[in-house]
Amino acid sequence: MSPKQVTSLDLTNEVFKGPTEVVNKIAESIGLKHTKVIETFVLEERDLKIALQKQSGVFFRGTITWIGDNKTSSQGTIFCVESGSELKLINPNEENTKQVLLDMKRRIVNVLTEGKVNCNVCGKNIEIFDETASCPICNTKAHKDHLLEWVKMKHVCPSCEQPLKITDSGEIISG
Ligand SMILES: [Zn+2]
Ligand SMILES: [Zn+2]
Repeated sequence: MSPKQVTSLDLTNEVFKGPTEVVNKIAESIGLKHTKVIETFVLEERDLKIALQKQSGVFFRGTITWIGDNKTSSQGTIFCVESGSELKLINPNEENTKQVLLDMKRRIVNVLTEGKVNCNVCGKNIEIFDETASCPICNTKAHKDHLLEWVKMKHVCPSCEQPLKITDSGEIISG
């Protein structure tokens, strides 16, 4: 048996941790020209791609323009991705992603997505592109629209049933 050339590198743990770990590991393995601006790594060459896939196949692909910090959560990595004329922010994390693999030859970050958390309002999985919101008291998660609608109507959390309200800027706070 001839040794197989390693062409794929597991980045899952690094992506769940943060951008520094991700950029360092990619730079170590295939090189990556970037400029660091605070916690954001701007890629100098647009040659690193990302593909989001489910069991059924790839449903989104694009070119990574920067890799940065997830400000709203304590951990995680944000990929800013250009796809056609659109820029999208993608945040693979433990709740929506099974595995992240770097295809070293083709320079593609393959994200195998998997909704692991259910929305507390509609019961469906929260997927990678879904906007989420959580209860400030018990932290239960839901699709953002669904939780806003629920609180507007019932003024309580769907899970802990503590009183909640929505501020003028659309934030859900205890009330
Ligand atoms: Zn929902
Ligand atoms: Zn709650």
